[in-house]
Amino acid sequence: MNSDKSPDSADRFLCPFCHGETLRGASHVSPHNSVRYLLHHCRNCLLEHWTPRKVDLTIYTDHGFEAYEDYHSGRRSFPRWAEPLFDQLPRDVESAVDIGCGDGAVLKRLQLTGVSVTGIDLDAESVHVANERCGAGTCSVTTLEPFAIESRTGGRSFDLVTFFEVLEHQTDPLQFLSDIRSLVRPGGWVAGSVPNRNRFLATLDRRFGDGDFPPHHFLWFSPSTLGRMIGLAGFIEAEIVETESVTYVELTAKLKVILSRSIAGEKRLFRSLFYRLMLALAPIAAGILHLGRLRKPSHIFFRFRRPPMSHGISGTASE
Ligand SMILES: [Zn+2]
Repeated sequence: MNSDKSPDSADRFLCPFCHGETLRGASHVSPHNSVRYLLHHCRNCLLEHWTPRKVDLTIYTDHGFEAYEDYHSGRRSFPRWAEPLFDQLPRDVESAVDIGCGDGAVLKRLQLTGVSVTGIDLDAESVHVANERCGAGTCSVTTLEPFAIESRTGGRSFDLVTFFEVLEHQTDPLQFLSDIRSLVRPGGWVAGSVPNRNRFLATLDRRFGDGDFPPHHFLWFSPSTLGRMIGLAGFIEAEIVETESVTYVELTAKLKVILSRSIAGEKRLFRSLFYRLMLALAPIAAGILHLGRLRKPSHIFFRFRRPPMSHGISGTASE
């Protein structure tokens, strides 16, 4: 990322969530499509968003990220960012839909507690894995908007709507949360997670991969941003928990892989020696990272409810 921060820039782009004024931040050129993206910080809801907000589906279909290869393998370990949901699963949940269900890991665990589950994802390979895990026809290849329209038309709603690691990909978060709201029954539950933009050494973390930048992630959240957005979207009883997704052992292994790749691709002797030294010290470096991330974790889990009575987004009647 370039460091051409210009907080007093006259260039203003309205916030895609609250339509408040924004301040321009850094820029980033994606190696995936060579587009230059600009970061903006909303002064009202504190959301950070990147422009241009234009979906590029090839980022998902080109196997550009290891996470999707994990989904397709069906051997991904259970995502820790979803653990808080099961620490206190609401008792009045009999039906649930997972938006961006991936390999169906969350749905399977809900199913084991007796919940009737449904899932949607735009990636056909992931849906195939999810259906093998949860039962044929449980999950389908579609996106939120047509699914929400179909559900509304059919008068279908759910006790629980989940979306883990999905909100940060959205280009229109206001419409997204409006569609989510239409899927959950009055008084029902919503839960999910996003990466924490305030995680320990976030800037350094982003240097080792392009996954937190557009056209993959368009929105960056902090716990306070989420709290404001949930309230502005007309939801209640928001619970926001910072949660770490990687254990010390996994962090050490990940660091070793990154450093081994750096050594393999490095022709300069001094840098190569530096990476080798770092590789030898990886368990210590991972320990420092782990301690830092216990204080400022990698992800934010959230849970909230749709009010039992009808209320519209930002106070306007919608139902
Ligand atoms: Zn805003």
